[in-house]
Amino acid sequence: MYPADDKDLLAYFDHCVDVCASEFRRTRESLPPRFRVAGGGVMPEFRMDPGGGPGTIILERGGDFWRERFQAGHEVFHWLITPASAYPGIHHWTHEMFANEMGVRCLRASGIRDAEAMAEEYAKWLESKSEETTLLKMLTTPLTPPYEWVFGRAFVIGRKLQKAVSWERLKPLATAEPDIRSWLEALPAKLRRAANEVLGEPSDEWV
Ligand SMILES: [Zn+2]
Repeated sequence: MYPADDKDLLAYFDHCVDVCASEFRRTRESLPPRFRVAGGGVMPEFRMDPGGGPGTIILERGGDFWRERFQAGHEVFHWLITPASAYPGIHHWTHEMFANEMGVRCLRASGIRDAEAMAEEYAKWLESKSEETTLLKMLTTPLTPPYEWVFGRAFVIGRKLQKAVSWERLKPLATAEPDIRSWLEALPAKLRRAANEVLGEPSDEWV
């Protein structure tokens, strides 16, 4: 791995921090310590610092312009929502749902030429991966890295939940300890029913 020094790419990371901080209501003062950026990883990841210091966002080796930027939005979400106390990380399908959604949203909000079309391409790519697992398996399997197999299903379910309850009502799941059943219970009855139609009836097997 090597430190990333592409100025345009680092500026794109600033953009992702702004977009994610605004979506999840963080101010400059409530941001975690700023991450470092490295290239040349085996897979993209936000690697936390065991001592609670700034973590590192690692981009996959061989990524092109758009892939690096999509990964940036994804990993900046993980950085923003993962407190130091959650070391070595939060491994939950809801976080992959948000991370990929933010990867797409950061692209769309970037103003870079062709970014909107690329955001659509990434959304389609995620949708095309949804057959890699079932809803039931996703809801009941504790994740251990690597878990890219959950990306497609989580993204599609995330889009359905946005339709059912709204994006704003979905965002409270972006916590250090996502708990779907408590989140459902906190929804107004009508929205809870709509969310249940997407997820099925709550079960003790859910992770
Ligand atoms: Zn992720």
